[in-house]
Amino acid sequence: LVLMIFALITAACSDGGGDSEGGGSSSNGQVDVGIVLPTKDEPRWVQDEQRFKDALAETDYSTEILFSQGSSAKEKENVDILLNKGIKVLIISPHDGAAAAAAVESAKKDDVTVIAYDRLITDTDAVDYYVTFDSLAVGAAQGQYLIDKAEGTGVPLYLYAGASSDNNAFLFFQGAWSVLQPKIADGTFKIANSSEAEALKDTAELSRDQLSKILGQVTTNWDPNEAKNKAQTHLTGVAADMKGDVSILAPNDGTARAIADVFSSDGDITNYTITGQDAEKASIQYVIDEKQSMTVFKDVRTLVKDAIDMAVTVLDDGTPETTGSYNNGTADIKAKQTDVIVVDKENVKQELIDSEYYEASEFTGLE
Ligand code: BGC
Repeated sequence: LVLMIFALITAACSDGGGDSEGGGSSSNGQVDVGIVLPTKDEPRWVQDEQRFKDALAETDYSTEILFSQGSSAKEKENVDILLNKGIKVLIISPHDGAAAAAAVESAKKDDVTVIAYDRLITDTDAVDYYVTFDSLAVGAAQGQYLIDKAEGTGVPLYLYAGASSDNNAFLFFQGAWSVLQPKIADGTFKIANSSEAEALKDTAELSRDQLSKILGQVTTNWDPNEAKNKAQTHLTGVAADMKGDVSILAPNDGTARAIADVFSSDGDITNYTITGQDAEKASIQYVIDEKQSMTVFKDVRTLVKDAIDMAVTVLDDGTPETTGSYNNGTADIKAKQTDVIVVDKENVKQELIDSEYYEASEFTGLE
């Protein structure tokens, strides 16, 4: 059974201005579809912007993309700017899923159709649709990769998570925990860096509160610097038996590279397996160079296409197709979900180059 009901919690940016894309704004400044993304500071979202631009070149509707630079206030401002330009559809990936409720509620007051993009907006009924990857599957794939690569028993396991303001961080961790927990309970892994996770090691299904407690300890806030500092603190604090060959659950590529750099420079770490997600170019190079073990490839082209198709259907007075729903704490939000692909050194060429997601010339050492 695909878990589609979640008790929930839980992200946008620009350098201030917006880029008019696709049809661009019409001569009277009117914009049909407003797009608000969390931050330009992470390659993941710059990638989404580019994929939106590529896809929008084919629509006749006018669009504008704004970035929120990790600020809910900026995000609300962006939504207001777009509302003043008369948008009919808002596609938004919130910086903070709960804080964004206010922004989408003002959009709803203007009869705008709200599509949450990749990150759910929580505790409000002012969200019409949600386009997303299977985030539980992302976490489960990360956890399973660590299990598949672990040798012997008592393997030190370092846990890291995303930002607590992002509902996805909960889903990723929950998915990873669903497969890792039995392997912690049976002694394959021993948790190195979280007393909260250690205390819950016999609990197969964690409540939102229990997840919050663990995230409170091992969050990176989606910030590579915070991830790096935490990893340094952890490696300084642990006993010798928590070193050697280790496994690291890193929530995404940006944090994975930061954490990997710390672990690779510790002389007592003989080998590490580390997860990631997003298939960021820098991490693909890390995978080729064997500095990051895997990434979860989320084909942003599909998510962008789903979001635009939805928006166009709404503009044409139709009803968008959905595949399930996500409960956001207040309402069941109709959702369209996309599968993810595990990528490591073995299949990186096939999945990312042969699929024309990236070009071989963007990397070195690709076989
Ligand atoms: C996205 C990830 C991203 C993370 C940090 C999550 O909500 O699903 O793809 O790495 O946010 O921006």
